[in-house]
Amino acid sequence: MTETLTNWAGNITYAAKELHRPHTLDALRALVAGSSRVRALGSGHSFNEIAEAGEDGVLLSLDALPPRIDVDTAARTVRVGGGVRYAELARRVHGHGLALPNMASLPHISVAGSVATGTHGSGVGNGPLSSAVREVELVTADGSTVRIGREDRARFGGAVTALGALGIVTALTLDLEPAFEVEQHVFTELPWAGLDSAVFEAVMSAAYSVSLFTDWRAPGFRQVWVKRRTDQPLPDFPWAAPAAERMHPVPGMPAVNCTEQFGVPGPWHERLPHFRAEFTPSSGAELQSEYLLPRRCAVDALRAVDGIRETVAPVLQTCEVRTVAADEQWLSPSYGRDTVAVHFTWIEDTQAVLPVVRRLEEALAPFEARPHWGKVFTTPSRRLRALYPRLDDFRALARSLDPAGTFTNAFVRDLLGD
Ligand SMILES: Cc1cc2nc3c(=O)[nH]c(=O)nc-3n(C[C@H](O)[C@H](O)[C@H](O)COP(=O)(O)OP(=O)(O)OC[C@H]3O[C@@H](n4cnc5c(N)ncnc54)[C@H](O)[C@@H]3O)c2cc1C
Repeated sequence: MTETLTNWAGNITYAAKELHRPHTLDALRALVAGSSRVRALGSGHSFNEIAEAGEDGVLLSLDALPPRIDVDTAARTVRVGGGVRYAELARRVHGHGLALPNMASLPHISVAGSVATGTHGSGVGNGPLSSAVREVELVTADGSTVRIGREDRARFGGAVTALGALGIVTALTLDLEPAFEVEQHVFTELPWAGLDSAVFEAVMSAAYSVSLFTDWRAPGFRQVWVKRRTDQPLPDFPWAAPAAERMHPVPGMPAVNCTEQFGVPGPWHERLPHFRAEFTPSSGAELQSEYLLPRRCAVDALRAVDGIRETVAPVLQTCEVRTVAADEQWLSPSYGRDTVAVHFTWIEDTQAVLPVVRRLEEALAPFEARPHWGKVFTTPSRRLRALYPRLDDFRALARSLDPAGTFTNAFVRDLLGD
């Protein structure tokens, strides 16, 4: 049967005619061992060709495998199958009185696909979601299984945020912590005037997770989302006024799609994401880009975006500013540096958006901006390579685990340059 396979946003049509959905691990191993080119598709929430297998390649999904979620309450860890999504994982973990340290803006995405691209939430003390991973289990090109744990210091740095290039991730073991509650407070109109580095740091450090939103139609931020753990002090927030009604980050969208606000305490997994699992996240008709740069440059970088806001605003639905703590995955966009992440939800029009993305990349180039691996970007690979000091180590790891390049695609080849 021929199906048309697209990503969640619909801007990418994968070349594969069929999505293989093995029902058992043995079937997956046999499929991999019998194919010369394979890529896994997670929940398809990336906006570029990172998951593409190519016309002759095999695109495979792990969503028909038994959805394994094995919680070890004594060790405070969970072993999760390669097709499981955060929504399901979070509910199960919470049922055991445990929690993940952080979540992205939506729980709809697969765990394996998210950590492969360096997906993150916000919080000055929170690394990307991959920081919770302590072991990766991969099926490599001959169908055998390789486990790489945190103690494997020579390889672990390349193993988690690996862009799908090392093998098919069939399981991940994640660290957990005791469950906690979070209250979400939304504030409006954070003015631009007075937003220097000290104020920016204070705003972003006011609670466990803080996000700023703007449409760049005027200077300043339209909304500030403050997620406070109830086991941490109640912050003063003198910089903006509390919202009078429930808000959606995209102007005009219904707030019912969003997680509970107005400081109503609730479980971590129903507050840390912005969007509820049962609803369409974000606007649903969109493209996205995001650039991650050193947090010490945050205000200068935001001023650079403000300088081109008349170019940016006409194709923008919303822009979100978050923080991510430095991590140690070689290909992580927050590798080795405390980071500010500047995200853009664009209108659903590639032709109109791409020239603006290019202009934005020029404006952010002085700040060593690393694009999000799962979003729209045009940064040339030559420049990307210069932004990742451990790229050679990743290249060597990919060669040793996948000498024939079974899990390579054009996206990865461009980056690695071989
Ligand atoms: C509405 C929306 C909101 C978003 N919000 C955020 C956010 O808050 N923060 C953020 O950082 N990003 C965000 N993103 C981006 C998203 O988190 C990333 O694109 C993420 O990679 C999506 O996971 P996925 O499972 O859909 O991966 P896919 O897009 O399916 O795949 C991504 C990569 O992972 C690989 N992969 C997937 N599964 C496996 C596996 N089992 N084994 C090996 N490789 C695998 C694929 O081959 C591909 O290279 C958002 C996206 C959308 C659409």
